[in-house]
Order: sequence, then structure tokens, then C-alpha cells
Amino acid sequence: MLTAGQALERLRSGNRRFAAGSGGGTVASRLRRAELAVGQEPFAVVLGCSDSRVPAEIVFDQGLGDLFVIRVAGNIVAASQIGSVEFAVERFGSPLVVVLGHSRCGAVLATLDELTRPADYQSRGLLFIVDRVRPSVEALLATELRGDPQALVAQAVRANVRASVNHLRRGSRILEEHLQDGRLVVVGAEYSLESGIVEFFDGPMGAA
Ligand SMILES: [Zn+2]
Repeated sequence: MLTAGQALERLRSGNRRFAAGSGGGTVASRLRRAELAVGQEPFAVVLGCSDSRVPAEIVFDQGLGDLFVIRVAGNIVAASQIGSVEFAVERFGSPLVVVLGHSRCGAVLATLDELTRPADYQSRGLLFIVDRVRPSVEALLATELRGDPQALVAQAVRANVRASVNHLRRGSRILEEHLQDGRLVVVGAEYSLESGIVEFFDGPMGAA
């Protein structure tokens, strides 16, 4: 298994290929599929948004068996996301977890809408997601960013990624133990819909 640093480097170089338009070289062979049918060893876990424009395997130019991907609108963390990360970390020994947000995230925009113009009716399912994004957006609405919607959304996307990173780091005894032992690193990152580039921004290892 790779170290967290090696795993991060592999994601960085994959994303460089993707952003440069030279990715797409990792189509699985029949042999690879047969190898993977009996076991997997994903080198990273990615908790990303469901947005159709941000598929983790493609933006990191990785193939079958490389990434353990959890996708949910707004890359929020609730019990099932924690359980999925725990499963990958314990079962496969994946050394790296990346929370991957992205520019113009619809879940962040929907939360902003809900806070500034509450709808008469909102589904419980959608509210569950909005409630998890809400703290990141709410704090920023109380600053001068309130008057600058574009900057507000940009900051809220990053705050929401950081909130999910913190939640994963502190929301689980299993993950906490792996972090303390140095067997696991959790970093945040943001994908730019415009440039195709992923910027890692958490901690010394994730610093862009
Ligand atoms: Zn999104």
C-alpha cells in the first residue's frame, strides 16, 4: 500500500493529466478486472459531491480499483459517510481520505437560497443536506461577504469542505485512532469546474 504522501502525489499527477486533456489512459483491461474480482486495494478514499461534472475517477485520471468513492450532494458527512470511510480505511488500509468540493456547488447555492429566501415547502431529504451545509454558509452570511454573492459562494464551498474534513477527523473513534497512529491523512480539496484543476488545501501535506 502507498503512503498518504504517495497517494496524494498520484492524485495530483492524475489531475494534472486530466486538466491538460491528456488523461483517459486508464481503461481497465480484462486482466485487471479479473485481478480485482478477488480483492481490492484502493489507495485513496474520496468523499465528493454528486455533481455530474465532478466524477472522482475521471478528474483524478484513475482506473478500476484505484479509488473508494463516496458521493453525496454537497459532500456532506452524516453517519453513512463516516461508516463508508471507516469501512475502506479498516478493510483496505487506504492511507488517504480526500473531501472533494467544487466551485458553484448546487448544494451550497441551495443552502444559501434556503437561508436568504426560505421556501414554503422543503422536502425532508433535501433539508437534511441543507442543514449540514448550513453552518458553513451561515457564518459567512454574518460577514461583509453578504454583499458579494460570488465571493460568498466561493468561500462557503471551501468552508463546507473544511467542515466535512473536521467532521471526519473528529466524528469517529476508528478514524481518530488511525489519524493518531499516522496511518491516515484526511485532506480537503476543491475542484474548479472552469479549469479542471483540483487544489488541495488542508494541512502541510495538502497545501497547494
Ligand atoms: Zn456540488
